[in-house]
Amino acid sequence: MNRYGVFGNPIEHSLSPIIHTQFAQQTGCEIEYEKILAPLDDFAKIAQEFIDKGAKGFNITVPFKIEAFNLATQHSLNAQTAGAVNTIKINGNELMGENTDGIGLVNDLTKNLNIDLNNKTLLILGAGGATRGILLPLLKQQPRRLMIANRTASKAVDLAKDFSAYGKTCGFGLDKVKNDPVDVIINATSASLDGKMPDIASGVANGAICYDLMYGVQTPFMDWAKANNAKMIADGLGMLVEQAAAAFEFWTSKQPDTQAVIQNLRR
Ligand code: NDP
Repeated sequence: MNRYGVFGNPIEHSLSPIIHTQFAQQTGCEIEYEKILAPLDDFAKIAQEFIDKGAKGFNITVPFKIEAFNLATQHSLNAQTAGAVNTIKINGNELMGENTDGIGLVNDLTKNLNIDLNNKTLLILGAGGATRGILLPLLKQQPRRLMIANRTASKAVDLAKDFSAYGKTCGFGLDKVKNDPVDVIINATSASLDGKMPDIASGVANGAICYDLMYGVQTPFMDWAKANNAKMIADGLGMLVEQAAAAFEFWTSKQPDTQAVIQNLRR
């Protein structure tokens, strides 16, 4: 039985054990997958104990993704550009760090929701850890333009500069969002957690695909999108399952059926 797990604080809410157990059943892999609450100041020690017990890999969620980056001995390009690791594969003495958040989002958008991002105008709200993690996989889809709007404008400007080598990016404050429609808006702020919607020009949503990274509830962003004539509205549950699938494949080389798991979770 191969051992895997997810580290976080808090961790009780995590759906990862349910998702990975379903992937394992589908693909005939024998795995054990547990939730591990790491103390805020002791992630590295708890992770090392898990590694010493013979674990094959683990996921890392809030707030340890940057510490996991520091723990990893090798980093994929996604992990390097994100500056954060959400998946570690243990290979002898090597801890291979990957970040599957962006791959998860792109797979949900392109495969599950059938959205072609090529040559489209994208607007991302927020410039925190999640935005940094999704930028490279989004830019690999070759959008016409990717705009980042953030409450603290300087963070959006800096992030856009950091990724300008990978595609046409620009960053600005939320107040600079124009009233003109874009193709896709991705809410990567944590405002939904506080029941808030960033204050932006409403015309930008007219006919747009609006995607909230948050999942499990109807968010103020989703309400705002509906009120402003969005073409399609989605939450981040598909991204959650797809990022888990990319981690599962990284560990086992097996590709699970994500649609079945998304449907089970929605039920
Ligand atoms: P961070 O704390 O790193 O960043 C938060 C961002 O939200 C910042 O840009 C911040 O702006 C902005 N923000 C916070 N409150 C407000 C507000 N009231 N109005 C406008 N902007 C606001 O968080 P993460 O990037 O890690 O996470 C963002 C969201 O993505 C969370 O809801 C998280 O749950 C979700 N997520 C979902 C995943 C999935 O699999 N579906 C995976 C990863 C994340 P400022 O810089 O000005 O402070």
